[in-house]
Amino acid sequence: MANVNKKLMMKEDSLIAKDFSPLFNNLEGLSENQLSQHDKLYKGYIAKYNEVNKKLQNTDLLAANQNYSEFRSLKVELTHNLNGVILHEMYFANLIAAGKDPCQELQDILSKDFGSWDGYIKDLKATGMASRAGWAVTAYNYRDGKFYNYIIDQHNMQIPAFARPVLVMDTWEHAFMIDFGTDKKSYINTFLDNTNWQVMYERITSTLQTEEILNKF
Ligand code: FE
Repeated sequence: MANVNKKLMMKEDSLIAKDFSPLFNNLEGLSENQLSQHDKLYKGYIAKYNEVNKKLQNTDLLAANQNYSEFRSLKVELTHNLNGVILHEMYFANLIAAGKDPCQELQDILSKDFGSWDGYIKDLKATGMASRAGWAVTAYNYRDGKFYNYIIDQHNMQIPAFARPVLVMDTWEHAFMIDFGTDKKSYINTFLDNTNWQVMYERITSTLQTEEILNKF
């Protein structure tokens, strides 16, 4: 327990933005302008999360109310901004210049739940097309041990409570409007051409390694 306490004490109160700029002039079909504008939004979520988190520490807890209260508003915006940070970081991290084909192991894992690799990709594309201002996310559901493509509207709606994202695709229009206008279908194809399948595979590996511990509780 002493080590756990020491680790927790060392955590920063504020979030700090990660640097994804080396990626920005390296992707095929996604321009530097598109990606750097997108990065500005990501940094905005970092700033707002820190601001909301700070305000929460000085909010009147006794005035908490479900219909309206400052406490409730801040709590709602906290997860909006926090997921805005987490999902963008996972999104940028699962992009890579000239993405290679997924390894056979990854294809086999996804084929189990989607019938085939092609079936998985078709479902992911459909999930992306059906998502509003939000996300299409491939996630492992710890409850039943299966992979699903989930729609997340905004950053914090329809998120299953016990699932870990392993591939994250931004489907907000800001993710593609500069390069593709309203042509979301072409953006999704370009995203898949630049997907870092190795990152997805490593996320799945670490997810499965922690499954036994997480399912105890
Ligand atoms: Fe975004």
